[in-house]
Amino acid sequence: MAANPLTSSAVLKRQPPARRSDLAGLGFPAFSAWCAGVAGHHPRFHRAAYRQVMGEGRWAPGELALWREAEEGSPGTIAALTDAATSAQMPCVTGMREVIDPQHGRTTKILSRLDDGREVESVLIPMRGGAHHTICVSSQVGCRMGCTFCQTARMGLVRQLGAHEIVGQVLAAAVHTGITPRNLVFMGMGEPLDNLDAVAAAVEVLTDTNGLRLAARHITISTVGRVDQFPRLAELGLLRVNLAVSLSAAEDVLRSSLMPVNRTWNLSTLRAALGGLALPRGRHLLISYVLIDGVNDSPAAAEALVRWLSGLPALVNLIPLNPIPGNAQRPAQPPAVAQFRQQLLAAGVPVRLRQTKGDGVMAACGQLGTARRPARLR
Ligand code: SF4
Repeated sequence: MAANPLTSSAVLKRQPPARRSDLAGLGFPAFSAWCAGVAGHHPRFHRAAYRQVMGEGRWAPGELALWREAEEGSPGTIAALTDAATSAQMPCVTGMREVIDPQHGRTTKILSRLDDGREVESVLIPMRGGAHHTICVSSQVGCRMGCTFCQTARMGLVRQLGAHEIVGQVLAAAVHTGITPRNLVFMGMGEPLDNLDAVAAAVEVLTDTNGLRLAARHITISTVGRVDQFPRLAELGLLRVNLAVSLSAAEDVLRSSLMPVNRTWNLSTLRAALGGLALPRGRHLLISYVLIDGVNDSPAAAEALVRWLSGLPALVNLIPLNPIPGNAQRPAQPPAVAQFRQQLLAAGVPVRLRQTKGDGVMAACGQLGTARRPARLR
C-alpha cells in the first residue's frame, strides 16, 4: 500500500509520552492534535481512535483496522501511538468495586482508584424503571465546604480531580456495567465550583459529538453557592448546562449552621447572584432542599423558602435527609415532608420530592465518602 501523504515517519514519537488515563480528558480537537503530533494521518484515523477511547475506555490502536492499514504504509505507527500513551490503564481507574443496592436493585456505587491510589466515588442510578440512567460524578476527592449533613465533608478536601478523572468515572461505569448514562449530575464528592476549570473541561469532553455525545441539557452542575465563581459560568460556556443550588434553609442563622458557605455568601448575596444569571430562555434553576427532622422542616421554614424564591424561575427538589453514621440529624418525618411540599405547591412553587435511591449502601445524596465501605464488593 502506498504511504498516506498525510503520514510522515519523521513525525513519529515527536510527542512526549502521556498517561493513558489523560486521554479521557481530551476533547476531539485536542486528541486529534495529539495523535497528529505522534503519527500524522488524517483526522478520520484519529476519529476512529477517539471512538475507541470514549466508547470502549481503551487505548489499543493496534486493534483498529484503519491504523493497521496505516501501519503498512508507515511502519512503526502503531508502536509510536501505543508507546505515546503509557503507564496507567484506560479508563483512569485501576480498580473498581461495585455494589448492587439490595433495596432498589440496580443503583450502583462505583469506587474508582485513581493513578495516585486515591479513591473517588460515583453512582449509577436507574431512571424511569431503568429506561435510562443518570450518573452522579465526583469533582474532588473530599470537599472543604463542611455541610453538616454530608459524609464527604468529613474528609476535608484531599485533592482536585482533573477533567480526565471526571470523564474517567463515566468511562469506568460504562465499561464495568455496559451502561452509558444519558444524564450526568455533578452531585458526588466535592463542590464543582471549587474546581471549575476541570469541570468545564470535562463538560467539553462529555458533550463532544465525536465521543460521548451527552446533551448539555442532560448535565447538571450542583453548587452550595460559591457566588464568586458565578461570572465564570458564563465565561466558560456552562450556562448551557443545568444549575442546581443546594439551599436547605432560607434563613441565614440556620443556613450558616448547616452550610458554612453561607457565612461567606449569605442568602441575599446568593439570591441576587442567581437573579443576575443569564439563563437560557425557559430554563429553571434547581433548588435542592435537604429536609432534616425538627431543623428545617417547619411551616415557618417553608414560608421563608417561598419568600426567598419569589421571582426566581426555580424548581425545588425536596430530599429527606439520608442518615450518615455518627450524625444525630434525622430525616424529616413523612407528615412534615408532605406539609412542607404542600405549602410550596400552594404558593405556586414547582416541587419534586426526590425518591431516595442507594441509601442502603451509602450511595445516596450526601452519603458519598470513604468512611464506610459498601457491604458486598466485587
Ligand atoms: S454537600 Fe456537597 S458541597 Fe457540601 S460538603 Fe458535601 S460534597 Fe461538599
